[in-house]
Amino acid sequence: MFDKILIANRGEIALRILRACKELGIASVAVHSTADADAMHVKLADESVCIGGPRPSDSYLNIPQIVAACEITNADAVHPGYGFLAENARFAEILEEHKITFIGPTSEHIRVMGDKIEAKTTAKALGLPVVPGSDGAVGAGGDTKAIAESIGYPVLIKAAAGGGGRGMKVAETAEDLETAVSTARAEAKAAFGDDTLYLEKYLGKPRHIEIQVIGDGQGNAAHLGERDCSLQRRHQKVWEEALSPALNDDQRAQIGGTVAHAMQEMKYRGAGTVEFLYENGEFYFIEMNTRLQVEHPVTEMITGIDLVIEQIRIASGAQLSFRQDDVTFNGHAIECRINAEHPETFIPSPGLIKQFHPPGGLGVRVDSGAYAGYTIPPYYDSLIGKLIVHARNRNECLMRLKRALSEFVIEGVDTTIPLFSALISEPDIVNGSYDIHWLENYLKKS
Ligand code: ADP
Repeated sequence: MFDKILIANRGEIALRILRACKELGIASVAVHSTADADAMHVKLADESVCIGGPRPSDSYLNIPQIVAACEITNADAVHPGYGFLAENARFAEILEEHKITFIGPTSEHIRVMGDKIEAKTTAKALGLPVVPGSDGAVGAGGDTKAIAESIGYPVLIKAAAGGGGRGMKVAETAEDLETAVSTARAEAKAAFGDDTLYLEKYLGKPRHIEIQVIGDGQGNAAHLGERDCSLQRRHQKVWEEALSPALNDDQRAQIGGTVAHAMQEMKYRGAGTVEFLYENGEFYFIEMNTRLQVEHPVTEMITGIDLVIEQIRIASGAQLSFRQDDVTFNGHAIECRINAEHPETFIPSPGLIKQFHPPGGLGVRVDSGAYAGYTIPPYYDSLIGKLIVHARNRNECLMRLKRALSEFVIEGVDTTIPLFSALISEPDIVNGSYDIHWLENYLKKS
């Protein structure tokens, strides 16, 4: 097992990883930018190193500084969290070259799944159902039109290097295609420095259902059920639940089994998420994330498995500590992403948190690095915490969530808590009948 883990991240996820290190009795190192000197994870870690200025490129994305911090502190492993360097294959390679363990998959698996075109080809070869689309990248001009016609409109233009819902454009008809392609190309170039595009059938009313997997790189892999992340704004998840209100046990066992088998074939190592759109009883692979996800706690709540502890154990060379048959699903869990944003305009609201009183009680979990007197810096994403509620069934979970939201006090900055308090009374939410467009439509109406 490792002696010391460096956490190459910030905010609630840095704290989450720190908690796992403490439970395992492993020493921890926090790295931080000058803007995060007062962050909770910095205060609670055994050691901390300032690695640069507020801009991510100067600190949390600054590979030489992070490697230097490992060497100064003698850390023997790095947990990258999510975002920042979590899916940077070169970072994983550089760490290995320095004999530091990257807590995650092999750099090769990160690279393959990081290119969405290659990921789709790989998924298809592994027997996963994929969204119909262009087999590979599309170029300029005529061929794009012919491909779009063969797929059938509407089509979605996506960036091979995409992430965070950026660089995606819908073309409803052949007339829209050219503009949509050029806008997507420009956005992809600006956001990812890579303007490779591909086309997909645009699904009208799908749900976003993703399967959590974990493998040990030695051929053992299991699935931990699904999460329903259909409530999205601008293709970004807002509310996640496990299990999905749309699947029954047989459907779960079938798609879960297919995905777990694919991971065994790949000899996948670490935690990962295979994302699908689900429409009319069919699953369509869209991408795989080769890391821990923001919404991992809902899976932890219903399975009782600590995903971060499993990641650390596996990275240290251990085999998966359980078999598929050992995984059982207990009750229901919902996560609300609490952002420091105005609940209607979604304008970010950094600044001083004057009061912070998180809810508690049976089945309530708050993953957050916020506290009264903490100033949210303006340089990073606006997620300040996650409220996760667990209960014996979905109905009780909704009742508990309503109660927990009503207890949550955050003063000094705007938050998205009022949005969740409103959503919880919506009949479609109560019934679990929503697709990926539901929230955008609701926000347009209200
Ligand atoms: P990113 O990596 O940018 O998050 P994804 O491929 O994971 O992109 O897609 C993000 C979201 O965009 C999905 O959850 C879904 O809401 C929407 N989306 C993606 N592909 C399609 C598609 N073919 N049809 C309709 N919506 C899609």
